[in-house]
Amino acid sequence: MPPLRHLHFAILALLLTSCSSFQPRHTLTQTSTIDALLAGSYDGTMTCRELLTKGDFGLGTFDHLDGEMLVLDGKVFQTKSDGKVYQPSLDLTTPFAAVCRFSPQNSFVLPVKTDMETIKKFLDEKVPDKNSFAAIKIKGTFRKMHTRAVPAQKKPYPLLADIAAHQPEFHMRNITGTIVGLRSPPFVTGIGVPGYHLHFISDDQQQGGHILGFELTEGTAFTDVCNKFHLLLPEGQSDFHQLDLSKDRSQELMQVEQ
Ligand SMILES: [Zn+2]
Repeated sequence: MPPLRHLHFAILALLLTSCSSFQPRHTLTQTSTIDALLAGSYDGTMTCRELLTKGDFGLGTFDHLDGEMLVLDGKVFQTKSDGKVYQPSLDLTTPFAAVCRFSPQNSFVLPVKTDMETIKKFLDEKVPDKNSFAAIKIKGTFRKMHTRAVPAQKKPYPLLADIAAHQPEFHMRNITGTIVGLRSPPFVTGIGVPGYHLHFISDDQQQGGHILGFELTEGTAFTDVCNKFHLLLPEGQSDFHQLDLSKDRSQELMQVEQ
């Protein structure tokens, strides 16, 4: 083998070992399950630092349910219940999050002056792989953006459905920003959120949250169909193992997500 090829191999090996965030493409990694969250399991089990080794794009929540998580370009953002966006310490933990190494296969210019339901239908047509996961990034300008951010909770933890009934909500107007979203297949019931789950951050990184609705002025969607799903369950002393996860919580999830 000529020396140049040796060098190439050496560089490749160095890249592979030095880059801890190297993850296979089109792979969604999730920690814990949505039903555990619905059952009140809000204690973080994975640090943001470790989460970022699983992907650079995604969403979730934080220890004690302290706000809405958005991961974009390898940075973690936290929209707290005051509606403001923070960049938390990477030592902060999460009880529930899903990330991938964002590698879009396609991009689509979105129909102008539309709402969330129209955009969902548009993406369903353009990305028909409904039984795979899809990571979705939308960069755009929004005439309206309606979000919420749940407040941090103290023990004994109330159920998520009861918290969501009094959640702080935010109404933004004429704002540019990025939607970080996941579309999950129907068979993830109990594990994840079937259908669309979208979070938002403004371009100035001041406002965000879990999306309840929006009106798009104009924008572009980038989609990464993920056909591999990696589920990481909490280890050791976590209360996860004491939860009753036998019941169907789909109705509660509907209440919480909308
Ligand atoms: Zn959310």
